[in-house]
Amino acid sequence: MKGLVIGAGIGGLLSSELLAKRGLDITLFEMNRGVTQHFTGELTGASTTKIVGEDCVDNRFSKGMVVSLDSKNEVGVPMDLFLLNADRIKLTLLERAEAEGVTVKFGTRVQRVMKGNAVLARNESVQGDLIVGAEGVTSCTAKEHFPDPNYRTLRAIRYKIEGRHGLENDTAHFYIGKRLGMGYLWLYPRSEREFNLGAGSIDKRDLIPILNDFMKSFPGSENWRIASKGGDLIPYSGLRRAFARPGMALVGNAAGQVSCLLGGGVESTLQGAISLAKAVDKEGVMDPSQYMEEFNASYPRVSRGARLVPPILKLYSTGRLFRHIEKSMEIVSEKDVIDFVSEGRYLRPVLKALFLHPIFSAGIFRSYLRVRKEIVIGT
Ligand SMILES: Cc1cc2nc3c(=O)[nH]c(=O)nc-3n(C[C@H](O)[C@H](O)[C@H](O)COP(=O)(O)OP(=O)(O)OC[C@H]3O[C@@H](n4cnc5c(N)ncnc54)[C@H](O)[C@@H]3O)c2cc1C
Repeated sequence: MKGLVIGAGIGGLLSSELLAKRGLDITLFEMNRGVTQHFTGELTGASTTKIVGEDCVDNRFSKGMVVSLDSKNEVGVPMDLFLLNADRIKLTLLERAEAEGVTVKFGTRVQRVMKGNAVLARNESVQGDLIVGAEGVTSCTAKEHFPDPNYRTLRAIRYKIEGRHGLENDTAHFYIGKRLGMGYLWLYPRSEREFNLGAGSIDKRDLIPILNDFMKSFPGSENWRIASKGGDLIPYSGLRRAFARPGMALVGNAAGQVSCLLGGGVESTLQGAISLAKAVDKEGVMDPSQYMEEFNASYPRVSRGARLVPPILKLYSTGRLFRHIEKSMEIVSEKDVIDFVSEGRYLRPVLKALFLHPIFSAGIFRSYLRVRKEIVIGT
């Protein structure tokens, strides 16, 4: 059986390796001349380090600090996350895929995907029994074969900076505030002298002036040097309603396999590749429903988010939700954040909000009901 994988991001690389291990003869197409040109995020959970190996880990965070840029309020959250080195991850995955016999064609853009064929430049057509669209947010496979009006993206940017930040090295910092709207700015120390500084927001705002002002106001930043800049779109609305059909599947950003609103996509993209490989039988045939079920079971918060995002956005766009972001920080504790992020539990903060700020909560709830009705009518 012949498999074609489009895109040598982390999703395409791991899919190629695992599908080759399942016995498929894999060709991987990447439009760039190498794997490191395209942007990849770096903060991720322990399961990623198990897949890519400890060599790819640059730092480990035991704490997250959420800071309001407006009031300077802070909430600390214990966490166990890793700052990886994106280039090293991709070079490692490439080496592993090649060791499994995957043929990698760099500098080759796939123009179109049809059932059983990928169309390259000058209408050259390549046949494949399984075609995997792992070409990120601009996926031509997704656009043509898995359209979904709810698939939405936000723009995020990242600077890699050399210079002292003076913060605890084991703490990832997240900054929120009115200027960022529904989004955040992050500072992830790599060492005492190196860190990632970035920002993303669902609102279409210009993030560069926000990042630059943040840098100017940071003590000691006159000695900072921006070593590299990068950015891309990230899907935030959860999974596409369908991301597999006979002979064709999406993986990673293309499928919307990203933790909604929070933006993390490294771990969930790798999970997508693993789920896909598990759905391939001994003859090399992929079962689309098994793939989708495997992914949903291993990463339920992505599909749950696809249902949550439309009403949350509607509430936000009507200005009813995040106007009181400071009040939300008083209500939500560290444990509440952890329980929500890891298990999707939210009853405790909702009850606390009802008791501590009944009028605020009633207002939000009334707006939610109105918005939900509008959405049901609108769809
Ligand atoms: C600023 C920023 C910060 C982020 N930070 C984090 C973070 O800290 N933690 C986290 O978990 N996630 C983060 N993410 C998200 C994460 O990087 C992505 O979810 C992840 O990289 C998705 O991988 P992928 O393989 O699906 O797609 P991509 O990484 O987008 O790879 C797609 C590949 O396909 C190639 N390609 C595209 N079109 C074609 C074509 N037609 N033919 C051939 N090749 C093609 C591209 O060149 C690219 O190499 C961040 C994203 C951004 C933008």
